[in-house]
Amino acid sequence: MANFEKLLKRLASDFPALNFKASKRFSYRKDTITFIPTSDGAPLLLLHELAHAVLSHSATPKIIDRLAVERDAWEYVKNVLAPKYRIAYDEDFAHKHLVTYQNYLHKKSLCPKCRQPRLETKPGKWHCSYCI
Ligand SMILES: [Zn+2]
Ligand SMILES: [Zn+2]
Repeated sequence: MANFEKLLKRLASDFPALNFKASKRFSYRKDTITFIPTSDGAPLLLLHELAHAVLSHSATPKIIDRLAVERDAWEYVKNVLAPKYRIAYDEDFAHKHLVTYQNYLHKKSLCPKCRQPRLETKPGKWHCSYCI
């Protein structure tokens, strides 16, 4: 927890354009990063959201591209942010996070009515060819 506070202070001074806010989840939107200070792996997750910010992942891509974006963010944490801020990178933790995300994406890509794969025509817009 003490380490997390320290990291947070450093990030806030290194990235003055970003707002850091304690919240109920980890997210990055516009110029605000939210985080759960007491979460397992909070420093890595905070760096992960920061990676989204630094890599300008602000636009919401289609679900099919989301996993690549997630992978990019973890790569950036591993290669740049974790060494820079001396946070131990945990490959298993990142992997688990990606798998969870992958499952979430898979669920989302199924039509809620017929459970068949549906098509995302625009970010957030879905089309199921079985349920027209
Ligand atoms: Zn992410
Ligand atoms: Zn359907």
